[in-house]
Amino acid sequence: MNKVEHIGIAVNSVSQAADIYQKLLNTQVYKTEIVESEGVLTAFLQTGPNKIELLQALNDDSPIAKFITKKGEGIHHIAFEVDDIVAEIQRLKNEGFVLLNDVPKHGADNKLVCFVHPKSANGVLIELCQRI
Ligand code: ZN
Repeated sequence: MNKVEHIGIAVNSVSQAADIYQKLLNTQVYKTEIVESEGVLTAFLQTGPNKIELLQALNDDSPIAKFITKKGEGIHHIAFEVDDIVAEIQRLKNEGFVLLNDVPKHGADNKLVCFVHPKSANGVLIELCQRI
Protein backbone atom coordinates (compact mmCIF):
# COMPACT_ATOMS: atom_id res chain seq x y z
CA MET A 1 0.00 0.00 0.00
CA ASN A 2 1.29 3.45 -0.90
CA LYS A 3 0.09 5.86 1.77
CA VAL A 4 -2.89 6.95 3.81
CA GLU A 5 -5.19 8.42 1.16
CA HIS A 6 -7.72 9.93 3.57
CA ILE A 7 -9.36 9.58 6.96
CA GLY A 8 -13.14 9.19 7.01
CA ILE A 9 -15.17 10.87 9.76
CA ALA A 10 -18.82 9.98 10.40
CA VAL A 11 -20.89 13.10 11.11
CA ASN A 12 -24.54 13.93 11.69
CA SER A 13 -24.46 16.81 9.23
CA VAL A 14 -21.89 17.40 6.51
CA SER A 15 -22.78 21.09 6.28
CA GLN A 16 -22.33 21.62 10.03
CA ALA A 17 -19.13 19.53 10.13
CA ALA A 18 -17.77 21.30 7.02
CA ASP A 19 -18.07 24.65 8.84
CA ILE A 20 -15.99 23.28 11.69
CA TYR A 21 -13.36 21.50 9.59
CA GLN A 22 -12.98 24.45 7.22
CA LYS A 23 -12.14 26.61 10.23
CA LEU A 24 -9.98 23.94 11.83
CA LEU A 25 -7.88 23.26 8.74
CA ASN A 26 -8.19 26.80 7.34
CA THR A 27 -9.20 25.48 3.94
CA GLN A 28 -12.37 24.96 1.92
CA VAL A 29 -14.25 21.81 1.02
CA TYR A 30 -13.11 21.02 -2.53
CA LYS A 31 -15.71 18.43 -3.39
CA THR A 32 -19.06 17.14 -2.17
CA GLU A 33 -20.52 13.97 -3.60
CA ILE A 34 -23.39 11.57 -2.97
CA VAL A 35 -22.50 7.87 -3.04
CA GLU A 36 -25.86 6.22 -3.67
CA SER A 37 -24.64 2.66 -3.06
CA GLU A 38 -23.56 3.58 0.50
CA GLY A 39 -26.38 6.01 1.19
CA VAL A 40 -23.95 8.77 2.09
CA LEU A 41 -23.23 12.40 1.39
CA THR A 42 -19.49 13.06 1.45
CA ALA A 43 -17.36 16.20 1.55
CA PHE A 44 -13.60 16.33 1.10
CA LEU A 45 -11.04 18.73 2.50
CA GLN A 46 -7.33 18.69 1.85
CA THR A 47 -4.51 20.03 3.97
CA GLY A 48 -1.01 19.53 2.58
CA PRO A 49 -0.95 15.99 1.16
CA ASN A 50 -3.68 14.79 3.54
CA LYS A 51 -7.40 14.46 2.97
CA ILE A 52 -10.37 14.29 5.31
CA GLU A 53 -13.65 12.76 4.15
CA LEU A 54 -16.78 13.80 6.05
CA LEU A 55 -19.61 11.26 5.77
CA GLN A 56 -23.28 11.84 6.51
CA ALA A 57 -25.96 9.14 6.25
CA LEU A 58 -28.76 9.81 3.78
CA ASN A 59 -31.01 7.04 5.09
CA ASP A 60 -31.32 4.69 8.08
CA ASP A 61 -29.88 1.73 6.14
CA SER A 62 -26.61 3.54 5.48
CA PRO A 63 -23.55 2.04 7.20
CA ILE A 64 -22.88 5.57 8.52
CA ALA A 65 -26.30 5.70 10.21
CA LYS A 66 -25.59 2.36 11.89
CA PHE A 67 -22.11 3.50 12.95
CA ILE A 68 -23.40 6.73 14.53
CA THR A 69 -26.22 4.93 16.33
CA LYS A 70 -23.67 2.54 17.83
CA LYS A 71 -20.67 4.78 18.44
CA GLY A 72 -21.66 8.39 17.80
CA GLU A 73 -19.79 10.77 15.54
CA GLY A 74 -16.08 10.18 15.07
CA ILE A 75 -13.37 8.52 13.01
CA HIS A 76 -15.04 5.92 10.82
CA HIS A 77 -12.25 4.55 8.62
CA ILE A 78 -8.69 4.95 7.39
CA ALA A 79 -8.20 4.67 3.64
CA PHE A 80 -4.99 3.49 2.03
CA GLU A 81 -4.10 4.15 -1.59
CA VAL A 82 -3.18 1.11 -3.66
CA ASP A 83 -2.04 0.76 -7.28
CA ASP A 84 -3.82 -2.52 -8.00
CA ILE A 85 -6.87 -3.06 -5.82
CA VAL A 86 -7.66 -6.49 -7.28
CA ALA A 87 -4.16 -7.74 -6.43
CA GLU A 88 -4.37 -6.23 -2.92
CA ILE A 89 -7.76 -7.87 -2.32
CA GLN A 90 -6.28 -11.22 -3.29
CA ARG A 91 -3.20 -10.65 -1.14
CA LEU A 92 -5.30 -9.75 1.92
CA LYS A 93 -7.62 -12.72 1.37
CA ASN A 94 -4.57 -14.98 1.24
CA GLU A 95 -3.41 -13.43 4.54
CA GLY A 96 -6.77 -14.32 6.12
CA PHE A 97 -8.35 -10.86 6.32
CA VAL A 98 -12.13 -10.63 6.19
CA LEU A 99 -13.26 -8.24 3.44
CA LEU A 100 -16.65 -6.55 3.30
CA ASN A 101 -16.61 -6.73 -0.49
CA ASP A 102 -14.57 -9.14 -2.63
CA VAL A 103 -15.16 -7.13 -5.77
CA PRO A 104 -14.05 -3.47 -5.88
CA LYS A 105 -16.93 -0.99 -5.97
CA HIS A 106 -17.21 2.64 -6.98
CA GLY A 107 -16.59 4.95 -4.03
CA ALA A 108 -16.42 8.71 -3.67
CA ASP A 109 -13.76 10.90 -5.28
CA ASN A 110 -13.39 8.76 -8.43
CA LYS A 111 -12.04 5.68 -6.67
CA LEU A 112 -12.47 1.94 -6.72
CA VAL A 113 -12.80 0.85 -3.11
CA CYS A 114 -12.83 -2.23 -0.90
CA PHE A 115 -13.30 -2.44 2.87
CA VAL A 116 -11.53 -4.70 5.35
CA HIS A 117 -13.74 -5.75 8.27
CA PRO A 118 -12.78 -4.00 11.54
CA LYS A 119 -12.67 -7.40 13.25
CA SER A 120 -9.70 -8.21 11.02
CA ALA A 121 -7.85 -5.00 11.87
CA ASN A 122 -8.06 -4.43 15.62
CA GLY A 123 -11.34 -2.55 15.50
CA VAL A 124 -10.48 -0.20 12.64
CA LEU A 125 -12.40 -0.20 9.38
CA ILE A 126 -9.79 -0.10 6.60
CA GLU A 127 -10.57 1.10 3.09
CA LEU A 128 -8.41 0.32 0.09
CA CYS A 129 -8.76 2.78 -2.75
CA GLN A 130 -7.42 2.93 -6.25
CA ARG A 131 -7.73 5.96 -8.46
CA ILE A 132 -9.83 5.21 -11.54
ZN1 ZN B 1 -13.28 6.80 2.52
